[in-house]
Amino acid sequence: MVIPSLIECKRDGEELAPGTWAAIVRAYAADEVPDYQMSALLMAVVWRGLSTAELTELTAAMLASGDRLRFNGWDVPRVDKHSTGGVGDKTSLLLAPMLACCGAAVPMMSGRGLGHTGGTLDKLESIPGFSTQLTLSAAVAQVRRIGCALFGQTPEIAPVDRRLYALRDVTGTVPSVPLIAASIMSKKLAEGLNALVLDVKAGSGAFLPDEAEALELARTMIDLGEASGVRTVALVTAMDRPLGHACGNALEVEECVLALRGEGPADLMEVTLALGVEMLMAAGLERDRQIARERLQATISSGAALGKLAEIVEAQGGNPAVMDDPALLPQAPRSAVYTATTAGTVIAVHPRNVGHGIIAMGGGRTRVEDAVDPVVGFVITASPGDLVEAGQPLATIYARDVAGLEAGGAALDRAIEIGAGGSAPRPLVSHRVTAAGVEVLTR
Ligand code: URA
Repeated sequence: MVIPSLIECKRDGEELAPGTWAAIVRAYAADEVPDYQMSALLMAVVWRGLSTAELTELTAAMLASGDRLRFNGWDVPRVDKHSTGGVGDKTSLLLAPMLACCGAAVPMMSGRGLGHTGGTLDKLESIPGFSTQLTLSAAVAQVRRIGCALFGQTPEIAPVDRRLYALRDVTGTVPSVPLIAASIMSKKLAEGLNALVLDVKAGSGAFLPDEAEALELARTMIDLGEASGVRTVALVTAMDRPLGHACGNALEVEECVLALRGEGPADLMEVTLALGVEMLMAAGLERDRQIARERLQATISSGAALGKLAEIVEAQGGNPAVMDDPALLPQAPRSAVYTATTAGTVIAVHPRNVGHGIIAMGGGRTRVEDAVDPVVGFVITASPGDLVEAGQPLATIYARDVAGLEAGGAALDRAIEIGAGGSAPRPLVSHRVTAAGVEVLTR
């Protein structure tokens, strides 16, 4: 295998012969392909794409580079949800316990923040004592015992994706439909699932902001999932503003506790319920959408989902008392109310600026090895379309120190746009995509 010729083939838009991508992945895993050649190949894929056959082979090879969760002989339907990444996107922390309460098994392997977006693992680790580092066998045992485990990609799962993901993050090769699809699906197919629901974000804060690209990503991942025997459905949801009010790790966990007490922001609950309905239906646990929604709502009103989250937290070494008293979460030493400087309409709350603000305050990473400060972030109460007066509170900034408050304020100056008019925000849930096609929704 001559890597420079393969790079040239992809650069010129040619399709690699069957077996080539599998050989490249094996050689990369064996350290026979250096990162500089792999980066060039990835960049060629960003520009030229992959054929369906190439993508299927690449994904299968990335999956085969590691192990998978095995639930031999256990017939409880296993379902997961995966988001392509957003700001304030905390639905995983709600859906995992809600679905477990409805009789599903949820082996939820999540990631860390990437770029301006937050990550479920970083959020969970703000809970005192919580460990996201489960071995494969511990994760399987916990799912079988309490219906859910929330854990990070172990070294055994798709190790080639782990290395490619880190390489892509620093070589400008993240925004590519086939590379994102192969990366996500090589991990999700390792979870031993019966069903998968994808939350594909569209809008300025998404990795692929354009709706047409989001739909293409959804269709691509659905094809990969269905070809592997996993029922796969996607919803395209809005990421032109943050989801919910809280943005930042511990603040988002607190918002989840409130949401599981029935006090969640309307947009967060709408997206959560829409995804949850798809999860219940795809897992074969419900056939009627309205009843599915009511069953999910009942897990909140009965307190069952909050109790289940406490059980998961305790099983993974965390302090379950956080569910009764969110003040046990780490707290920011400083906070300040951010107010409107002029009267007008909130035209936009730009998620990228919010995400970059959290990173500037220490709550996200600029290098893989960076530690994240769990306490910093924002609670943003202003939404696009709101009419505001000068001096009206729009958000609260939570920071480690005065410099953090200033960095947070500067980020909100860029994020919250006030003026006249403005275009309508994206529908919260705009499309439902299945193997059968695309349905346009109006929620
Ligand atoms: N999430 C992933 O797991 N991989 C990507 O490439 C992008 C988002």
